[in-house]
Amino acid sequence: MTGEHFDVLIVGAGLSGIGAACRLRTRCPGSSFAVLEARDDLGGTWDLFRYPGVRSDSEMFTLSYSFRPWTHAAAIAGGRTILTYIRDTAREFAVDRRIRFGHKVRSAAWSSAEARWTLEIEAGPARRPLQLTCGFLIISAGYYSYKGGYRPEFAGIERFGGRLVDPQRWTDDIDFVGKQVLVIGSGATAVTIVPALARRAAHVVMLQRSPTYVIERASRDAIADTLRAALPERLAFRIARWINIAVGAAFYRFCRRFPRAARWLLLARARDALGSSVEATKHFAPRYAPWDQRLCLTPDGDLFRALRSGRASIVTDTIANFTETGVALASGETIEADIAVAATGLELQPLGGIRLSVDGADMAPGETTVFKGAMLSGVPNLVFVFGYTAAAWTLKADLVSLYACRLINRLKRSGFRQCAPRASDPAMAKRPLVDFSSSAYRRAAEKLPKQGTGGPWASRQSYWRDILTLRFAPLQSGGLRFSDPGPATPARRNPTTGAPHRPSAAR
Ligand SMILES: Cc1cc2nc3c(=O)[nH]c(=O)nc-3n(C[C@H](O)[C@H](O)[C@H](O)COP(=O)(O)OP(=O)(O)OC[C@H]3O[C@@H](n4cnc5c(N)ncnc54)[C@H](O)[C@@H]3O)c2cc1C
Repeated sequence: MTGEHFDVLIVGAGLSGIGAACRLRTRCPGSSFAVLEARDDLGGTWDLFRYPGVRSDSEMFTLSYSFRPWTHAAAIAGGRTILTYIRDTAREFAVDRRIRFGHKVRSAAWSSAEARWTLEIEAGPARRPLQLTCGFLIISAGYYSYKGGYRPEFAGIERFGGRLVDPQRWTDDIDFVGKQVLVIGSGATAVTIVPALARRAAHVVMLQRSPTYVIERASRDAIADTLRAALPERLAFRIARWINIAVGAAFYRFCRRFPRAARWLLLARARDALGSSVEATKHFAPRYAPWDQRLCLTPDGDLFRALRSGRASIVTDTIANFTETGVALASGETIEADIAVAATGLELQPLGGIRLSVDGADMAPGETTVFKGAMLSGVPNLVFVFGYTAAAWTLKADLVSLYACRLINRLKRSGFRQCAPRASDPAMAKRPLVDFSSSAYRRAAEKLPKQGTGGPWASRQSYWRDILTLRFAPLQSGGLRFSDPGPATPARRNPTTGAPHRPSAAR
């Protein structure tokens, strides 16, 4: 155990953590910081997931960082390309040397008297206990458990003679060439992996309990390509990024406002792409409205093409039980399989599974309310990243990082030692943080922080609104209080104006 202290610690060296580190370097140049990463490499999601065909389902002009142009030809990019982009960004901004790999953060305890977080960490392969402290904590640890995906109870699984695979733990020795493959699931992973496997497997069956909306788009962005041919790289990227933000937001609004029209459009496109070979209404017409759950993307219609070609097929039914050679379905049908891929979703986990406490009191994330989608009620000097679910994750992650930089600079300038959001109305109604109806979010609803119903306590899927609240709204607006409960500091100043301030317990 040692007691190294930093101004800021960032948990997680994925897309969000590296982005936050780059922002800290440029916006808070005087602050000491380190990035604590549980794994032995950076990239998070884009290093962990290695199944065939793994790719983004957002276009990269918005999933990449606003401060580092996406210059690759593909707008929908493969996992390895995204990983290289994150790695190159970390190197370019010299934040790679600030990462401490093999540092898993177990708990974080805030002390108001000391105005610091104390982190309990397991370091290295021997899980050596280590303590680090910091004045401000940024948790960018993603939103799901790295231990493995969610797996429902499969009756009779012990009888299955084939191989059952978790796509989160895909390894190179999984030989699917010439094999009968069963992919169980209807989410983004299933939609991605089915066409990729179908290229070399004997046949792939996608087995779903219920349909999902699948939307087709080109893997290259024609407007961005034209802009890039005519304009300097950075300018072309900026324009392409804003066009994609606007188009994505407009499409989301259209779907929420006119769900019947949106449903009709999505189905018409699927029907058109599938022809008479596949019953679109049976397999691609969910019971819910578009964006009640995340839409799945098929770049260049690869899933539709695989189904149309007969290399893959789709079945909407429920597994009764596994057999020695495959699965028996509720309808009485059977599917033979050498390999079964359980694309049954992620195990959601807030805040990297870190146990939080404030002045000795445990703070279960599920009992807190988010403030501006970036802080937690009653938790000082902590910002966490939870990106958009209906737009690219990075758009929100970057706004949250910039907000953290504003807070860190303000704390430093004002001399106040802590800032925490507090709800003035304890009876405020609460809603789930993500109001998706998908089973992954329903299962995790208790564990995830809640959102309120209005003002800074409501978490909306609106980039424009978040720009205003996180980048430009006064920091002290709507419930964020700067205070100094510990020993007096000589240089305390008004957090808004920076003018010298007379001490008070809290504001
Ligand atoms: C296959 C897949 C495809 C996706 N595609 C898209 C997409 O196209 N568009 C989109 O918007 N979103 C997408 N997402 C969501 C995606 O996770 C985010 O876009 C983004 O990569 C999240 O980055 P992150 O850094 O916040 O989290 P992660 O990538 O999950 O990284 C978190 C990091 O924190 C580390 N960590 C976690 N807990 C601890 C701890 N206690 N101590 C230390 N370190 C810890 C992890 O090891 C990891 O390196 C996808 C998700 C998956 C699984």
